[in-house]
Amino acid sequence: MNTENFLASERLVNAAYVRQGSQGRRAHELRLRALLEQGKCPEDGWDESTIELFLHELAIMDSNNFLGNCGVGEREGRVASGLVARRHYRLIHGIGRSGDISAVQPKAAGSSLLNKLTNSVALDIIKLAGVRTASSCFVVPMATGMSLTLCFLTLRHKRPKAKYIIWPRIDQKSCFKSMITAGFEPVVVENVLEGDELRTDLKAVEAKIQDLEADNILCVHSTTSCFAPRVPDRLEELAEICARYDIPHIVNNAYGVQSSKCMHLIQQGARRGRIDAFVQSLDKNFMVPVGGAIIAGFSDSFIQEISKMYPGRASASPSLDLLITLLTLGTKGYQQLLKERKEMFSYLSENVKKLAEAYNERLLETPHNPISLAMSLRELDKQSGTAVTQLGSMLFTRQVSGARVVPLGSQQTSSGEANMMCRDCWTLNSHQPQPA
Ligand SMILES: *Cc1c(COP(=O)(O)O)cnc(C)c1O
Repeated sequence: MNTENFLASERLVNAAYVRQGSQGRRAHELRLRALLEQGKCPEDGWDESTIELFLHELAIMDSNNFLGNCGVGEREGRVASGLVARRHYRLIHGIGRSGDISAVQPKAAGSSLLNKLTNSVALDIIKLAGVRTASSCFVVPMATGMSLTLCFLTLRHKRPKAKYIIWPRIDQKSCFKSMITAGFEPVVVENVLEGDELRTDLKAVEAKIQDLEADNILCVHSTTSCFAPRVPDRLEELAEICARYDIPHIVNNAYGVQSSKCMHLIQQGARRGRIDAFVQSLDKNFMVPVGGAIIAGFSDSFIQEISKMYPGRASASPSLDLLITLLTLGTKGYQQLLKERKEMFSYLSENVKKLAEAYNERLLETPHNPISLAMSLRELDKQSGTAVTQLGSMLFTRQVSGARVVPLGSQQTSSGEANMMCRDCWTLNSHQPQPA
């Protein structure tokens, strides 16, 4: 309703009541205005009614929702099912133009606005979570692995001779495949055991760089969030090495936004040395369905180059889900979840330690890993060859998901001990009732 319509309403309903109604609407609109003007995540989460009002306003700005629209092209935002239309709040055009995923789409002012706002709110949250000097980011409708691939492909044009990517080892398939799919050869640098922790072997990284020569290296590909006993890479030192040898540095920050330590590492790395981009998963950090990631960095022009590498238009769903989620939580709600996760991790750590001791086992000491825990299973291993794998299936049948049991000698662990990996307190956390 606009002013004219409110005036027209006064002929039907008492003017005083209409005025109240119009003030009610104004309260919603003030929130929208603050978002549009500042492009920041609101402190307090919005009501669903405000969010829905906003989404409907955006949708009617798109040409597929114009009354009397006569689309004669092959892509005009047609959908056969009303269910599908409603599932997407009638935002059907997706985001971007053929040449750039961040570009404005003339047929879809509403979707374009949604895209710009989401990226701006996402940047606000990334800064708030600890990478204060991040200058640019965008949401891509691809999970983390493919988003890393996009970063590597963007670097290819800048480094035509490069064949190799230096990669401190992490046992996760999609980040390995992200390099293969981009057409590069991963150069695996084994980690070193320090106490119980597996840490970046900086000397080996530097030796590899000297051995292969900088021009032949596309980038260093490091990792923050990972399973214990591996700990986040030594980002500061890696970033310094990258700056010294003039080699790009891409950071896999898959589930690191939820951890102030991981974010701090990225901030320090960028301050002391070189980080070109860091990539984080939407589902792992923001409790939305799988299918999106945020690519962020410190140079607007490089982040824009990556967004220009994306061929064609893209799905708006991950952006829409992220925006709805952040507007629902507000910065207070998100920070509260981060705080709860941290507390949950200490609680988990304390109790897994007690449990381990009660069974003559040991919680490994991995203080540099703020997200994941590992405990030994020596006693089980002594019992029989299958006891350890049985534990895995017992946890599974008791509906414990996300914990991993790694049998001794399995290729996945280099620490020489069989480790049960209790990962991801976020998963535990997200099983709790969600904030209203
Ligand atoms: C989740 C994750 C990835 C990427 O997985 P996607 O399915 O592509 O999102 C990469 N590396 C690590 C360490 C991860 O945890």
